[in-house]
Amino acid sequence: MTLKPNNIVIMNDQIAIKWNDASESLIDNKTLRLQCPCANCSGESDVFGNIYKSNNLKTNNENQYLINRYIYIGHYAIRIVWRDGHNAGIYSFEFLKSLDA
Ligand SMILES: [Zn+2]
Repeated sequence: MTLKPNNIVIMNDQIAIKWNDASESLIDNKTLRLQCPCANCSGESDVFGNIYKSNNLKTNNENQYLINRYIYIGHYAIRIVWRDGHNAGIYSFEFLKSLDA
C-alpha cells in the first residue's frame, strides 16, 4: 500500500494529516516552512559544489508561517502555498510523514 493522505486539514499553526494507514500526523507550520524542500530554501549547489541560499526568505514576515492552501501533485506529494507567496516547495507524502513530531 502506498502511503497517502486521506485528509489534510490546515489549522492556524499546524496541519493535520490523516493517512490511509489510519495514522495521523500533526506538523507545525514552522517546521514545514523551515524544511521547505525547494531549491531556494534547501540550497542549490552549482557544479563546483558551492551552495547558495537565498536570504530574501529569511524575513520576519509572519505570513511565511501561514499556509494559504495546498495543491496535490500527482499521487505522491503536495505543493504548499504560503501566505507570503512562496509556493516552490513540493512535499512528498513520505517527507511529510517523516516530519511528524
Ligand atoms: Zn522553499
